[in-house]
Amino acid sequence: MTMDLDFTAEERAFRAEVRSFLRDHLPAAVRHKVLNGICLEREDYLAWQRVLHARGWGGPSWPVAFGGTGWGPVRQYLFDDACAEAGAPRLVPFGLKMVAPVLMAFGSAAQQQRFLPPILAGEAWWCQGYSEPGAGSDLAALRTRAVRDGEHYVVNGQKTWTTFAHYADWMFCLVRTDPAAKPQRGISFLLIDMSSPGIRVRPIRTLDGAHEVNEVWLEGVRVPVANLVGEENRGWTYAKFLLGHERSNIAGIGIARRELARLKRIARSETGDGRPLLEAPLFAARVARVEIELMALEITNLRVLSAEAEQRAPGVEASILKIRGSEIQQEIFALMTEALGLQALPYDREAMAAGYAGDCPLPVHARTPTSQYLNMRKLSIYGGSNEIQRNIIARSMLGL
Ligand SMILES: Cc1cc2nc3c(=O)[nH]c(=O)nc-3n(C[C@H](O)[C@H](O)[C@H](O)COP(=O)(O)OP(=O)(O)OC[C@H]3O[C@@H](n4cnc5c(N)ncnc54)[C@H](O)[C@@H]3O)c2cc1C
Repeated sequence: MTMDLDFTAEERAFRAEVRSFLRDHLPAAVRHKVLNGICLEREDYLAWQRVLHARGWGGPSWPVAFGGTGWGPVRQYLFDDACAEAGAPRLVPFGLKMVAPVLMAFGSAAQQQRFLPPILAGEAWWCQGYSEPGAGSDLAALRTRAVRDGEHYVVNGQKTWTTFAHYADWMFCLVRTDPAAKPQRGISFLLIDMSSPGIRVRPIRTLDGAHEVNEVWLEGVRVPVANLVGEENRGWTYAKFLLGHERSNIAGIGIARRELARLKRIARSETGDGRPLLEAPLFAARVARVEIELMALEITNLRVLSAEAEQRAPGVEASILKIRGSEIQQEIFALMTEALGLQALPYDREAMAAGYAGDCPLPVHARTPTSQYLNMRKLSIYGGSNEIQRNIIARSMLGL
């Protein structure tokens, strides 16, 4: 089978157009945060979504019928890549790339009209209520219970690792509606207003001290039956459909390329034996190696895009992209901390806060990589852990 991995003249012109838009419209303060590892706030993400929406680019992966761009996979890739390169905030995936495709495919017309426009317009933040204690890789073991009571479901249970639940207006949530059925058969997909009485969000601090993830407790939460997506007890089908969409651009190539450039800047300004570290043969070889691995991953990614453009399902390649993409990003941050040497040891998490004006003794470029190195441990766990991805490759590709 032949594959064309070159971009066409039209695609290159499109990329130039996106780059020019980014130069003119990406606020310098937000760009500074992204390029220096400083934490973004809810409003940074939503304001950027509104800028894109005003340009008609709010839904890069959405069909035109729902107000999206109608772009194919290659344009979406070029767009993501240019945004990452320029230091734009990443698009918040929970609404745009997760719940929206489910609503488009399985939601009622009323749900589509109510929930899709605010996602596009940067007015609503969603979170993903899938995982529970005891139900992560084995998601079908989830126990959060929903019992029908007239025109409501009453929900009781606990979700965990819920990213940005503290920012969220809504949660798409897997609940058990039939405990007697086989695990996958008794699950339903509910849309829950995060301001409902009975919801408590408690922070979980990650290794780097950040507050990204949460526990979400649901006690007697009343959810209108109108917020059930599709049919009761068919939620597993919708949940798996959503996970298929989660893997779009899972390799994180644009982000890795941006951080590789930052690694080189750091290794150029740090010195060893009187010369820039980037010129020291052993360190330079390690940087070159990760860069070559990234280039190889990009080719694999383009092969997947080429298949998608021809309507061939990406299949197991998505698992390869997830594993290699996360390992490469982790390696880049490991090299950054090594380049910083002793400066990487005293790290000050507060230096990641916007407007930080403390007296951190480190140069600006040394303040955030250690926190980010620790934070990056998450990449091999979320979105389906790397061990689970290896199982998929072993089964589907190697026939083991
Ligand atoms: C930063 C972060 C953000 C997250 N955000 C969200 C979110 O927004 N919403 C949400 O619902 N979830 C979220 N998650 C949860 C994530 O999906 C789960 O952590 C992940 O699925 C793994 O589940 P677990 O943590 O329960 O680990 P477990 O499933 O208990 O696994 C523990 C370890 O055992 C390994 N393992 C498990 N089963 C197998 C097997 N069959 N073969 C080989 N090895 C195996 C795993 O790879 C892992 O190393 C997030 C997680 C993290 C770390």
